[in-house]
Amino acid sequence: MTPEEFRTAGHQLVDWIAGYVTGLADEPHRFPVRSPLAPGSVRALVPEHPPSDPEPWPTVLADLNRVVVPGLTHWQHPAFFAYFPSNSSFPSILGELAAAGLGVNGMLWATSPAATEIETAMLDWMRELLDLPERFASSGPGGGVIQGTASEATLCAVLAARHRAMAAGASLDQLVAYATSQSHSSIEKGLRIAGIPAERLRLVEVDADFAMRPDALAAAVAGDRAAGFMPFVVIASRGTTSSMAFDPTPAIAAVCQAEGLWLHVDAAMAGIAALCPELRWVNDGLELADSYCTNPHKWMGVNFDCDLFWVADRASLLAALSILPEYLRTAAAEAGQVIDYRDWQIPLGRRFRALKLWWAIRLEGLASFQAMIRRHLAITDELVSWVEGDDRFELAAPASLNLVCVRLRAGDAATDALIETANATGEALFTRTVLHGRSVLRFCIGGRVTERAHVEAAWALLQRCVEP
Ligand SMILES: *Cc1c(COP(=O)(O)O)cnc(C)c1O
Repeated sequence: MTPEEFRTAGHQLVDWIAGYVTGLADEPHRFPVRSPLAPGSVRALVPEHPPSDPEPWPTVLADLNRVVVPGLTHWQHPAFFAYFPSNSSFPSILGELAAAGLGVNGMLWATSPAATEIETAMLDWMRELLDLPERFASSGPGGGVIQGTASEATLCAVLAARHRAMAAGASLDQLVAYATSQSHSSIEKGLRIAGIPAERLRLVEVDADFAMRPDALAAAVAGDRAAGFMPFVVIASRGTTSSMAFDPTPAIAAVCQAEGLWLHVDAAMAGIAALCPELRWVNDGLELADSYCTNPHKWMGVNFDCDLFWVADRASLLAALSILPEYLRTAAAEAGQVIDYRDWQIPLGRRFRALKLWWAIRLEGLASFQAMIRRHLAITDELVSWVEGDDRFELAAPASLNLVCVRLRAGDAATDALIETANATGEALFTRTVLHGRSVLRFCIGGRVTERAHVEAAWALLQRCVEP
């Protein structure tokens, strides 16, 4: 591709993206939210063998519509109520494009000072915007980094905690970790990767609202110590995936302090709510957390992937993850003047992700993110009142932030059938979970272009799909 061809193709692609994104918002009925294709249908449209000669750009571009779009679940669709949202926004799409165009690898400060220093500035900006404790500021012993996902942040927290415990004399086969049955699957996975099998992840009892019971945590820790184990980390969730439950971090932090345990707080979805001053309660207890993560790629409009991970004291993290071969030595790092983010993450190489966050904040603006969050919360309140007004339905958990968990009084089979029937229409998408052993439909209102009318239509769809 010549530079001239690139210019032409690039303009066409930006036009195509703008058309796709606005099409989803303006004519959502044209796009079934969940791809209706059968397994193998997309693969069948991809030639069995690679082309022997380059193809023309117009053919390749046309295949976005022919091959790709029908095989998409449209995460940016206004009736996407499944999982948690994964919002993009135009400024952040441009940031991704610019990062690809710059083509730098920011593994060390020296391999692109701008990539490192803008990233550090963005973590400090976000600390300020979310009103997080001073201990996470880059000017002190702590600081933050952009990870791809919350899963990687949790793994890094576990590795730092493990390092701290083992430096104090614990052996790997004694270490035990604490979370709850409601914690994200990435916690068990991170522990497994770190050499701590599921048998040594204690699932602390939860209360009726699915939040960790601090008294049960203290009892579990005491029991493990008595049995010769070494408790080392607690992972508290602020906004669980199943029901958006909030583990009581201040009381959990008190146990961690008394017992010398690392406290990691996972607020991948809900943490972004703290952009709104009236929702800063989501940060409760963070002043005692050792590490924290939240995802601008969920509720903020910074394209996947963008997780923010902060530590109160970076020493354990760096000690756990830093290895210095000769070919990566630099004078600036040896003098301790710069951050080398390779030491804050699993891989060596890293993308220039700070650009999309910087541009989203500068071009979209705080007020726009706050307005979106407040709009979602107002619609969620209305949805709850609609659910309460239909006696075939009931809430399966207290509605929390922008997540409503509902089930049919008729039972699990009816709820499962409702989810499948509604999703099969392509008009909206929901996910299923299980709470207290019973099937539940999760209805999460978090799309950048989701308005009241979309939620009203989705609620009408659910009412229509209930089997008589
Ligand atoms: C979404 C989510 C995760 C996983 O996020 P990734 O960034 O996809 O790894 C972990 N924990 C919670 C509470 C989540 O909501």
